[in-house]
Amino acid sequence: MGPRPFNPFETAQQQFDSVADLLGLDDSCRDLLRSPLREYHFTIPVRMDAGRVELFRGFRVQHNDARGPCAGGIRFHPQETIDAVRARAMWMTWKCAVVDIPLGGAMGGVICDPHNLSTGEQERLCRGWIRQLARNIGPVIDVPAPDVMTGPQHMLWMLDEFETIHRAKYPGFITGKPVGMGGSAGRLEATGYGVVHTIREALKELRIRPGDTTAAIQGFGNVARHAVQLYQQLGGTVTCVSCWDQNDQTAYAYRKKHGIDFEELNSLTDHFGGIDKTKAEDSGYEKLPGGAWLEQDVDILVPAALENQINVENITNMSKRVKLMAEGANGPTTPQAGQILRDRGIFIVPDFLANAGGVICDYFEQVQCNANYFWSKDEVFGKLDQKMTGAFIEVSDLARKRNLSMRDAANVISIGRVATACRDRGWV
Ligand code: NAD
Repeated sequence: MGPRPFNPFETAQQQFDSVADLLGLDDSCRDLLRSPLREYHFTIPVRMDAGRVELFRGFRVQHNDARGPCAGGIRFHPQETIDAVRARAMWMTWKCAVVDIPLGGAMGGVICDPHNLSTGEQERLCRGWIRQLARNIGPVIDVPAPDVMTGPQHMLWMLDEFETIHRAKYPGFITGKPVGMGGSAGRLEATGYGVVHTIREALKELRIRPGDTTAAIQGFGNVARHAVQLYQQLGGTVTCVSCWDQNDQTAYAYRKKHGIDFEELNSLTDHFGGIDKTKAEDSGYEKLPGGAWLEQDVDILVPAALENQINVENITNMSKRVKLMAEGANGPTTPQAGQILRDRGIFIVPDFLANAGGVICDYFEQVQCNANYFWSKDEVFGKLDQKMTGAFIEVSDLARKRNLSMRDAANVISIGRVATACRDRGWV
């Protein structure tokens, strides 16, 4: 028998169990929080362009809503599983709580590969997803948002279907919409920028100037690209990024030792975050195997693609120079690999803190839509920085005071807040 496939929900539950011990949670509170409150599993029939009907498997998991209506992304991915959705829903609950926004955690997904779907098929899939869930989601129940391979256009189709079914306008129902159609300025940048706010604060603690650092990044999608942009504005140098190559069905890393040119590489990238390998090589980038991003001799690593990318198998390939890792993706590091990194003294900004910028801006989008008054991009970025920096400092102070890892400290704060909300409501 081969090794058991990686299960992100088991990871999320292991992380939860160790913090439940630290917090001394009683059994009923533990049982409530280590599983989702509600799950929806459904089939979405979609009429394909060729005329036949194809069935897609969809999910929505609402992990906990004690602190407010649920929020959380929808992923379109061929390897989506219910346990991956459960894990991300749980992380979402902790994420909203650690940055102290009044929302609960949910996540959704569809098993599909949008690379192989036309625009019309994607629209019908989005509308079908909403039709299956229209009674179980909504602005005061559960508000979806984009995630891997979904974006503003998907959100707008979903909003339109929801409003058609409920026969009224609910602009605060879905977030990550296009700007001008109820979207918040700055949402596209928010997650990547938030990752860099935490990098900036971590570097202050390490007493290193951003301008003296280099970084390698896994992914070149929404999160990665905006992280690269802001990090370069701070003076940092990105030497390597990686992405999935749909034609070759493998990942590649692209390196320029003196630093990538963001605008140039961005112009060679499709809307799935895939880089054109021929054009990249013509522009002087070295094309390396996908795992090479982790092996670069850099100060900072930013995994910003998928789960389970840093594990006991590849962690030995990591350069000794790495001092800081900011987890842009959800669940990129297995617990065993995380322990090895901690033993090596690497400063880790855990995923649900590092990538909280997205949901913070989703919350801002709800606030703006509900007030029907929209803020400028500068106002959004100012408020985002304030929230991210405040949360980082709170977590880092607790980590120092109680000699905890950043992940455990963030979990102590967030799980503690959610447990208090459940107890105060009389649930446990
Ligand atoms: P995206 O679809 O825009 O980009 C994903 C990127 O990862 C692409 O460049 C793709 O080519 C690359 N990729 C996929 N498989 C890969 C592999 N095996 N090796 C290397 N690269 C690979 O997605 P995104 O929105 O940037 O999300 C990235 C991660 O960040 C996910 O874990 C997501 O859950 C998390 N996240 C996203 C947001 C958000 O606002 N978009 C918020 C919080 C967390």
